[in-house]
Amino acid sequence: MPTAVTVAECLRQAQTHGLARVDAQILLLHSLQRPLHDRAWLLTHDVDTLTPVQTATWQDALQRRLGGKPVAYITGRKDFFGLTLAVDARVLDPRPDTETLVEWALACLPESKPESSPASSPSNGSPHILDLGTGSGAVALALQHARPDTKVWAVDASEDALAVARANAARLHLGVQFMASDWLCAVDVLRTGRFDLIVSNPPYVAEGDPHLAALTHEPLSALTSGADGLEDIRRIIAQAPAYLAPGGWLLLEHGWDQAAAVQSLLQAAGFAQVQSRQDLAGIQRCTGGCWHSEG
Ligand code: GLN
Repeated sequence: MPTAVTVAECLRQAQTHGLARVDAQILLLHSLQRPLHDRAWLLTHDVDTLTPVQTATWQDALQRRLGGKPVAYITGRKDFFGLTLAVDARVLDPRPDTETLVEWALACLPESKPESSPASSPSNGSPHILDLGTGSGAVALALQHARPDTKVWAVDASEDALAVARANAARLHLGVQFMASDWLCAVDVLRTGRFDLIVSNPPYVAEGDPHLAALTHEPLSALTSGADGLEDIRRIIAQAPAYLAPGGWLLLEHGWDQAAAVQSLLQAAGFAQVQSRQDLAGIQRCTGGCWHSEG
């Protein structure tokens, strides 16, 4: 075993390999078994030395990251909208971009009412929300956590993904109801009632998109959607009106260049107030509309 390495030496090693500083910091915290958000701790402990076990964990994590594995799959955890989710290769690695979808969804919901006020909404005062293609459960769990007064359902076509999402819900004590469904096909509106809000971060990368070369560790079924990347978005827009309450919103995340196309699809389907929202990088990342008629 070579002489003990310090925190600063590990970070320098990662830098010489061209690894992003934030990735190196998170992987090092993981190797040291510290909370992943505690990057400030590294700054004040840069001369601390790693034990042989920590060093081995770090070298292994570094090699896997350099091989393209997402940081979240190496650590098994990802912070999303203030929640720490367990994630692995069965689900898409939740992106900070998707927090845009959650923020917009929260803004679409009616204000929460005090317990005692009379129920006035068609859904008995508690807004009904549906998350399509939930993956790790990130969006559904963030919404249920931020708005405990809502009823949240979440579907995925993948039983593997549902297992990850259900485990996250149980660990976080959030009462989201999960169902296996190919988009809305298996959702029984007589049982759930119509939804005040339907959200989705569907697959939207075009088959053959060069970006896929960098995404080989994630499930392809969570990433690609036909020749133009819009096949699943078209299906969701076609199915959603029959499940939306009058005045309910459909909000969709999509690719960096798809906002205009998704706006056209929503308008053609009869949605009103069609508009888009930017992500943290200033890219039009989500598009949605309001369903006014009885559908
Ligand atoms: N945002 C991801 C990417 O482009 C794709 C996620 C998705 O298809 N929903 O890397």
